[in-house]
Amino acid sequence: MIYLPVIVHALNGTVHQRGAASPAPKRKRLSTTERVQLLERENSRCHLCKGEIQPGQAWDVSHEIPLELHGTDDNGNRRAAHRKCHRIHTATVDQPKIAKAKRNYAKHRGAHVTRLPMRGGRHDALKRRMDGTVVVRATGRPLFLGRLKS
Ligand SMILES: [Zn+2]
Repeated sequence: MIYLPVIVHALNGTVHQRGAASPAPKRKRLSTTERVQLLERENSRCHLCKGEIQPGQAWDVSHEIPLELHGTDDNGNRRAAHRKCHRIHTATVDQPKIAKAKRNYAKHRGAHVTRLPMRGGRHDALKRRMDGTVVVRATGRPLFLGRLKS
């Protein structure tokens, strides 16, 4: 029998298995009444393009500060936006910001590993000595690329 500890998330009730990636904080699904209240509070205006949200037009509950950037899922952060505006804004503004925040966090925690180490630098396999000879860092032996004289 394999013991698999299971954590039930306190906030959104999702089941989370230890070792799996952490679930993103889930947004609350608003009821029809709450959506109507939000639309009236926003005067039927899209907070992105400031245009009116016409009856029958698709619109989303947008988060001014994205949840991924630790924005809250409450009425202070919820705004109404046209679905088209919201999708464009998410893809062109929010996602790059989220990606950058993740890169900065990884760098901050020292988890970042460069794919292109500086030639001859600390992370390169080769090392150039002060006398100009190039050695393999792991063995300390000089690198030899030429042909042996016969
Ligand atoms: Zn709009």
